[in-house]
Amino acid sequence: MTRTLALTLALLAGGCASDELNAFAFPDRIVITSPLADFAQNHTERAMLAGHEYGHIVLGHADDRFVTDHERRDRELVADAWALKAIAEAGLDTCLIPDFFRRIKAERPRANAIDLRIALAEAACERNAT
Ligand SMILES: [Zn+2]
Repeated sequence: MTRTLALTLALLAGGCASDELNAFAFPDRIVITSPLADFAQNHTERAMLAGHEYGHIVLGHADDRFVTDHERRDRELVADAWALKAIAEAGLDTCLIPDFFRRIKAERPRANAIDLRIALAEAACERNAT
């Protein structure tokens, strides 16, 4: 897992020309906009971004053309759960992620399922702290 995350993070170096905080998963790559890559303040937050998008690919979410809004929200949570498990297994501190999501919420209050994503990250923090 650590090797996979390191490989994926290497893809972040080029960034993507956009002024939005956003990221995308395609079947063969992930794209994280430069503002979002810069918004992450440490390796754990960058691993969460990369892990979330990589989770979409692993879980078969890359093609979302026929997905309802409800399913899209669920996919966000499942990808977060996948990433939180991966970063915990990599020895990173999942307790950094709730604040990361709160900062995203402050920038983008209408981000998809952001309150549920914060709650999921808080639960992962509590689970890994015990
Ligand atoms: Zn997503």
